[in-house]
Amino acid sequence: MIVYEDSDDRMHFLQLHLGGDRNFCYLLGDRRSGDAAAVDPGFRADRFASAASQRGLKIRMILITHSHSDHAARAGKLAQLTGATVYAGKEEKVPGAVAVSDGDSLSLGRLSVRAYHTPGHSPGHVCYLFRKNLVTGDLLFCGKVGGTGRNFPGSSPKEEWVSLQRITSLPGDILIFPGHDYYGGKGLMQHSTLGYEKEHNPFLLCESFEAFLHLKETWDTYKAEHGIR
Ligand SMILES: [Zn+2]
Repeated sequence: MIVYEDSDDRMHFLQLHLGGDRNFCYLLGDRRSGDAAAVDPGFRADRFASAASQRGLKIRMILITHSHSDHAARAGKLAQLTGATVYAGKEEKVPGAVAVSDGDSLSLGRLSVRAYHTPGHSPGHVCYLFRKNLVTGDLLFCGKVGGTGRNFPGSSPKEEWVSLQRITSLPGDILIFPGHDYYGGKGLMQHSTLGYEKEHNPFLLCESFEAFLHLKETWDTYKAEHGIR
């Protein structure tokens, strides 16, 4: 299901809700050349192929934020279907992927996608900036941040804190598009801006790493006290 679409005479940007663990996947395209990138195809390679062909787009790149199966499981299958190249952070175990490094600019027709290495939830986690749209994977959600700890091998709350500080130093009007529909507040919130998150996301309101870590450790209590699901 397409939940957000922003298209103009130069580009297409689609946010898709394709099941898994309330996963969001993205399709970015240069309208003139038809070159497109799929971000985190998760389990639904087929849906990407059809959304792209309906818009006259050809998937040339498959961009992986991190290797967890709900994001990357069908990357190889989509690559087979489309002939696209898979890209992922070098510390992530994604079969057949070309390593993407911090600051890389990947060209998509006349447009480009910039990679930010943002470790924390996983060691090779990457966010992708396409025009004013930042796909944040499992680093930053609307109102929450990515999980760290025992359930996430290779994760580091300290690295996540540093990555969040770095990403939130980008301009506040950048739109953020997370890897999951995890917003637990009132109403529906499937994307946001960096400025809004800096003012409202409790993890970004922490003034120190110690406060951030404490909030992570006491998150269940915080959620119950603030009516967050
Ligand atoms: Zn993950």
